[in-house]
Amino acid sequence: MGLWDHVKPSTRPSTPVAIHRASDGSGLKFTWDDGQETTASARVLRQTCPCAGCVDEWTRQRTFDPETVPQDIRITDVVTVGNYALTPTFSDGHQSGIFRWETLRAASTPAPRA
Ligand SMILES: [Zn+2]
Repeated sequence: MGLWDHVKPSTRPSTPVAIHRASDGSGLKFTWDDGQETTASARVLRQTCPCAGCVDEWTRQRTFDPETVPQDIRITDVVTVGNYALTPTFSDGHQSGIFRWETLRAASTPAPRA
């Protein structure tokens, strides 16, 4: 039995066809395969970090107060993880979060169409 037999999403998750980091690192912009464009600020992504250091793996509680994330936090680098996620490097040095596409789509907000 493969993984796919256990995980059957009702709809296929959206996949980004383009990921653009703002030149000042203030956020990311995604273009999704359904044509939607969304943006997420570096601060929101840092607050959303799903890594084991940021979310207790048993209680699912966030281990820090999101309000303590600096307003001026930046994303200094982004690497993709396989074809399902990406890992941003934040200006506070944090780079252990693996953000799945679903997480990014949920954390970002639709951008006005150009
Ligand atoms: Zn984290």
